[in-house]
Amino acid sequence: MTTTVPRFEELAAPSHWRTVDFISDLHLQASEPATVAAFEHYLATTSADALFILGDLFEVWVGDDALLESGSFEARACAALKAAAQRRAVYFMHGNRDFLAGTAFLQHCGLTGLADPTVLVFGTERFVLSHGDLLCLQDVEYQQFRVQARSAPWQQQFLAQPLATRRAQARGIRQESEARKQSGAVYADVDGPAAAAWLQAAGAHTLIHGHTHRPADHALAPGLQRVVLSDWDAAALPPRLETLRLSGAGLERLPLAPMCK
Ligand code: MN
Repeated sequence: MTTTVPRFEELAAPSHWRTVDFISDLHLQASEPATVAAFEHYLATTSADALFILGDLFEVWVGDDALLESGSFEARACAALKAAAQRRAVYFMHGNRDFLAGTAFLQHCGLTGLADPTVLVFGTERFVLSHGDLLCLQDVEYQQFRVQARSAPWQQQFLAQPLATRRAQARGIRQESEARKQSGAVYADVDGPAAAAWLQAAGAHTLIHGHTHRPADHALAPGLQRVVLSDWDAAALPPRLETLRLSGAGLERLPLAPMCK
């Protein structure tokens, strides 16, 4: 399969950033309060100078108007993000679950949108940041849906429906996806040669991505690696709560403590 290499946005880390955190795939939802609490605790206590959220922060995002529903789950999560963003830079990249999070959401929460992919220049190092779904080339059906769902006409049509209808549709899609998971479906992984081609085109050595929920460090070619972020599940045994921290010393996985009430 031929690989199309996307255009890379570039972001230079200001020199005063000492530590940068990367997280993804928290899949925040009202029915998982332990993970929500762990995230709120993390936001309130992290010492990172900048936070990069690389997609699927939310299990689903059905439109920015959900923020206006008083007492909504989305409004609560946004309040926590806003408080964190007042103390440090917080960047938000779309995942395949929360790709409908729009400019109103970003403004409301004080976040800066991040294109997928983006090259982060930190000191003398260049890192490619991506959610990761674009690189799961074997899932042809999903890639076709992705093109459609990222188009303006599709989004306008979806968002034109009443909020309650959108919420109901999202529940239906989620049930289908749960059933698929239960049936033991095998999910596509990131395509190694494509990931290496991205890195070469971007002049970078390390790709940081989420999406696959398979946290690991993979060597792609001599000098090229991809580092996969962990998903979050505070209720799992053992809990999966982790941030990837970048500092002058390199990349390090930091386990986070679950909230003990
Ligand atoms: Mn994803």
